[in-house]
Amino acid sequence: MQIYKTINETKAFLNKARLDGKTIGFVPTMGALHQGHISLVDDARRDNDLVAVSVFVNPIQFNNKKDLETYPRNFEADAQKLKQAGVGLIFYPSQEEMYPVPDSTHYDFGDLEHVMEGRFRPGHFNGVAIVVHKLFEIIQPDKAYFGQKDFQQLAIIKALVRKEKMPVEIITCPIIREADGLAMSSRNRRLKTDERAEAPKIFHALQEANAKAGKVPVDELIQTLSKKLNNSKLMQLGYFEIVDAETLQAINNWNDSQNIVACTAVFVGEVRLIDNMMLF
Ligand code: AMP
Repeated sequence: MQIYKTINETKAFLNKARLDGKTIGFVPTMGALHQGHISLVDDARRDNDLVAVSVFVNPIQFNNKKDLETYPRNFEADAQKLKQAGVGLIFYPSQEEMYPVPDSTHYDFGDLEHVMEGRFRPGHFNGVAIVVHKLFEIIQPDKAYFGQKDFQQLAIIKALVRKEKMPVEIITCPIIREADGLAMSSRNRRLKTDERAEAPKIFHALQEANAKAGKVPVDELIQTLSKKLNNSKLMQLGYFEIVDAETLQAINNWNDSQNIVACTAVFVGEVRLIDNMMLF
């Protein structure tokens, strides 16, 4: 397994692989890797000759300084896990390597970026789009793998690839959960013991949404579940929304859409967690 910190070395290595006829699967991450990330790597290995993973905590997608400062980092452990998972290349750039000068690109994703995470984290998706665009240009993968855990991010990345006509196939990978249902996340390791014990309530609310979908009015279900997620002193609800899976716009009635997803963001203590579930 190669570890490169520079764009030039990474491109040279991948150019050679391409000349050798190898297909390249790419998994972008911010490190602090868990089984959710490794499942993306496993899918990428299944489909491609060579798997490249980037480990880069992208400062411009954080709209909260404390979240950036406290974001877990552990490159040694990450590299071990990726080696074991059969990764061929880790791209581990510095901030200066990625942004020698500030990048002022402004993307317009229309309605996709004004709801849910976009509403609560202004600038977040623009920062995501900038870094993913740069990473795709460096790695030039045949396929790139993203978790459904970040549902809105996936919609934004698919829109970016369409808009920029980038020759990469975006593969959606299922959410990997802990045994008690909590979606795996690098941020989970910041939860205190009592907070960790409460956190599976997020999954339970999504399960309840799925069980009641189509049986009670949409707005009533949102109200009931929002109340449940706000009902503990350790948890504070950001949003609980039921939306069309393509447009991400809220639905009013169950027959407004064929593809419906429930999405939520909840502060558990100081840690902001997101999760979602396709309904029906
Ligand atoms: P991150 O390092 O949090 O930026 O995540 C890197 C990639 O891993 C993104 O495509 C995430 O959606 C994906 N990912 C994170 N957590 C999970 C999970 N629990 N299950 C599946 N994919 C995940």
